[in-house]
Amino acid sequence: MQKVFWDDPYQTVLNTRVKEVNGAEVLFEQTIAYSFSGGQESDLAHINQMQVLNSRKEGVLIYYELPAGHGLQPGDEVEMKIDWDRRYKLMRQHFAAELILELVTKKLNLPKVGAHISESKSRIDFVWDQNISSIFEEILSEYQKIIQADLPIQTGFFDEVTQRRYWKIDGFAEVHCGGTHVRSTKEVGMVNLKRVNPGKGIQRIEIRLAE
Ligand SMILES: [Zn+2]
Repeated sequence: MQKVFWDDPYQTVLNTRVKEVNGAEVLFEQTIAYSFSGGQESDLAHINQMQVLNSRKEGVLIYYELPAGHGLQPGDEVEMKIDWDRRYKLMRQHFAAELILELVTKKLNLPKVGAHISESKSRIDFVWDQNISSIFEEILSEYQKIIQADLPIQTGFFDEVTQRRYWKIDGFAEVHCGGTHVRSTKEVGMVNLKRVNPGKGIQRIEIRLAE
């Protein structure tokens, strides 16, 4: 199953074929619809105008759940479409979180215990017994430099068999991640940071794109 969302994360329409049907679950030869992984939420996708209700990863495959009576058979040609507005927000929120995580890690090297990316905000949880907002000014100043420099974001496989991916900015970081990534840092834009204290020694950073 070719994951076109990695080859071209900007592609919004794909013509492909049904590979396998298992009741409501359908497998396609290729896909542009990202399925929840690594904290990044799933795309909103349609197959021949039927909404994908859910998706499930199994190894390197992604099964998409369609409405009952979808009528698809192996070999059928289909059109897959994703909601680009949602995807683009998710990609930008995702990379904003990647950059903030790297900057916090370079400064404090705190244990990260969770992360989540939605289209309106991202969050990263760290274990720390101090108030993490004390470093926000410095982190945001570093962040701004990276955004303004418009640095290219490269991606690729570090293990093609298991389909594990990385992203890389020369001279800054190389990180293992199977999400979808924008081409350059300028696209991500500036963010606002907010500290949340969920208790239990956790410091949470909430990240929102500054529009
Ligand atoms: Zn990533």
